[in-house]
Amino acid sequence: MAETRKTKVLIIGSGPAGYTAGVYASRAMLEPILVQGIEPGGQLTTTTEVENWPGDSHVQGPDLMVRMEAHARAMGCEIIGDIISSVDFSKRPFVCQSDSGTVYEADAIILATGARAKWLGLPSEEAFKGFGVSACATCDGFFYRGMEIVVVGGGNTAVEEALFLTNFASKVTLVHRRDELRSEKILEDRLMKNPKIETLWFHEIEEVYGTDNPKGVEGVKVKHTKTGEITDLPCKGVFIAIGHAPANELVKDTLETHMGGYVVTKPDSTETSIPGVYAAGDLTDHKYRQAVTSAGMGCMAALEAERWLAEQE
Ligand code: FAD
Ligand code: NAP
Repeated sequence: MAETRKTKVLIIGSGPAGYTAGVYASRAMLEPILVQGIEPGGQLTTTTEVENWPGDSHVQGPDLMVRMEAHARAMGCEIIGDIISSVDFSKRPFVCQSDSGTVYEADAIILATGARAKWLGLPSEEAFKGFGVSACATCDGFFYRGMEIVVVGGGNTAVEEALFLTNFASKVTLVHRRDELRSEKILEDRLMKNPKIETLWFHEIEEVYGTDNPKGVEGVKVKHTKTGEITDLPCKGVFIAIGHAPANELVKDTLETHMGGYVVTKPDSTETSIPGVYAAGDLTDHKYRQAVTSAGMGCMAALEAERWLAEQE
């Protein structure tokens, strides 16, 4: 028979927002349960150096997330390796089903499911995913030692991935659809100064091509965004770094979303349209999308849940 776990506060997600909510809810003696999801530690586990987390001028993303998890645990948060598969906000306590079969019943819920990498949506990209096409340089860069690599995108992620990949690749070409980056200036400077990186402005990927046996990428066809001219760019790896979309699958039919799926919260608050349900971090933030802002929202959500639960009593 499926086990049922009851809690005052269920936190869904284990990125900076979830773990910070765990710290605050534990210190409020709410004995929260945090369900980690498929990516324990969240997006920062897919990067290397983090240089803008206050108090650490240099920290490795995965190390920072291990420390956050330990901090939440030390405060008394119960952390469970499970994935929430559905939520029912129509009655209280709220009921969440999970992949393990455990049912979680909670008086209040903090949604902190973050965001996931976007893909271009090309059939050829899909065909070579895991065989030369990747969205995580930290995970897969190692396989491309001495090879040529293409990175697609013009934001912080694309620039960081391009820089990181120069540790392995003989050459990295950054393909961007405009001639202006939206990354931080410090990163842009590093990119421009790196002799292994070339930029290809005003281009988009038209097709990824390669061999079937063994399966692998041999290059990309790129299209000039103004002239339409198609050129060939041989490479063994293609890293897609075109941004992230909110991981809203659990709630997109029950909570209001905007700006491409971000959960709407009340102004200066993490309250959603359902009393007792809070949303924090990249799931709700279309503007800043930083670790520190996510952590800040996790704190807000726990404080707001604490006050709301006290009012219910
Ligand atoms: P996330 O970190 O996205 O975590 C979401 C969590 O929700 C995950 O643990 C996942 O397993 C869980 N989850 C999802 N669905 C479910 C479910 N159904 N059930 C249970 N759990 C679920 N920001 C910075 O400030 N500095 C940086 O240097 C920096 N570098 C970055 C580098 C890269 C490559 C990327 C991709 C992002 C970077 N960011 C950086 C942005 C930063 O990582 C995010 O803003 C931050 O991680 C968002 O935190 P979050 O807690 O909202 O969600
Ligand atoms: P982003 O800032 O949204 O940038 C996405 C980039 O991909 C943009 O340059 C965009 O082009 C391009 N793009 C989007 N869709 C495309 C498509 N279909 N085809 C081709 N190009 C496409 O995303 P991000 O770089 O992943 O960053 C997400 C958030 O995480 C940001 O808030 C960022 O600051 C944060 N982050 C921070 C750090 C850090 O602090 N060091 C590191 C990584 C990420 P246009 O520019 O033309 O729109």
